[in-house]
Amino acid sequence: MRQLVILGSTGSIGRSTLDVVARHPDRFRIVALAAAQRWEELLAQCLAHRPDVAVLMDPDGARALAAGLKAAGSRTEVMVGEGALAEAASLGAADTVMAAIVGAAGLASTLAAARAGKRVLLANKEALVMAGRLLLEAVATGGGELLPIDSEHNAIFQCLPPGRPGVAAKGVRRVWLTASGGPFLRLPVERLEHVTPAEACAHPRWVMGRKISVDSATLMNKGLELIEAQLLFGLAPGSVEVLVHPESIVHSLVEYTDGSTLAQLGNPDMRTPIAHALAWPERIESGVESLDLVRQGVLRFEAPDRVKFRCLALAEGAARCGGTTPAILNAANEVAVAAFLGGRLNFTSIATVIERVLERLTAAEVASLEDVLGADAHARRLASEAIDAPAGAYA
Ligand code: NDP
Repeated sequence: MRQLVILGSTGSIGRSTLDVVARHPDRFRIVALAAAQRWEELLAQCLAHRPDVAVLMDPDGARALAAGLKAAGSRTEVMVGEGALAEAASLGAADTVMAAIVGAAGLASTLAAARAGKRVLLANKEALVMAGRLLLEAVATGGGELLPIDSEHNAIFQCLPPGRPGVAAKGVRRVWLTASGGPFLRLPVERLEHVTPAEACAHPRWVMGRKISVDSATLMNKGLELIEAQLLFGLAPGSVEVLVHPESIVHSLVEYTDGSTLAQLGNPDMRTPIAHALAWPERIESGVESLDLVRQGVLRFEAPDRVKFRCLALAEGAARCGGTTPAILNAANEVAVAAFLGGRLNFTSIATVIERVLERLTAAEVASLEDVLGADAHARRLASEAIDAPAGAYA
């Protein structure tokens, strides 16, 4: 029986994971659940899944959670704060950790799980984009595994021969990362400036958290995924291509030197990659409907528009630079997306803010986690300054 910790259990990935787990009570036991502040949802999850430990970032929420659990006669122990998150990620009772916290906030706990030798199911792509090699080294020295949850990377994983994270498979010519194109694929470029957070979060194919939905709308998500793919599969810059595929049925493709191209297909539902990684190398029921290709009829593919979606080009540049540049890109993006969601920045200025931060910060080598955290903090400061600058100062 797999003993599972879910970091970010109240989010979109966390809830889908619990949905798959609930279908297999004989295979999985929940050891710990963790969230930031939504204590009522975490309480309901704890009562349904009876973990040993529940972690919340918000101290008031943690008190309310503890009171709710006590009133219900639950034995789940409540812990609070970031240290508790890393502790939960490395609990001796657990062998598998779903890393599904959004953004840089997930880095420390993902690293802790890797160092503790867990099977890490990586949804929190930002951790890998930021800490790249450090995370892969932690997986190697911890003796655990790293399995991708992102549907594209999970697809690539399924199309490659078995291998170690970060090590290139033989005979691969190229990897094609598919992108739905997001809600603004057909919107004229001049209208992008005026789109609202609600419009940006209304993804045509996937139901996701707000931050990744905005990243999908700017195509930054594809840029982060490109960096993630290079790292996970040991691919050289230039051997990962982005392909817009509005139907989101082909989740990615691997092209081999003999001309064969292998693809993984499925309905756009994250329970498929989640079930795949949870049970790997076995296969289990996920609750996802069979793919009906006759009803689907047409699958289209097109090149991405890097002029309209500047974030993709910025991420490709960061992937080529390496060092601390991906961490800088990620931090500036997180700050800019939060400002957009908060109504303080327009959609097209997300790319402008990131560009300004990248121009002002010189990339450095990454020798330690401090290098990454230093670059992250500096980039966040510069991004906030750019957003608060008088209108026109950076546009
Ligand atoms: P959501 O916003 O839906 O959920 C985020 C989760 O993280 C919530 O449980 C939230 O808790 C928790 N959280 C946020 N900040 C903190 C913090 N500081 N400390 C502890 N917990 C925190 O995000 P998604 O599920 O959409 O995405 C999660 C990750 O998975 C992201 O990295 C995303 O890029 C990746 N991913 C998501 C996909 C999807 O389909 N959604 C697809 C592929 C990758 P609370 O609810 O209390 O705020």
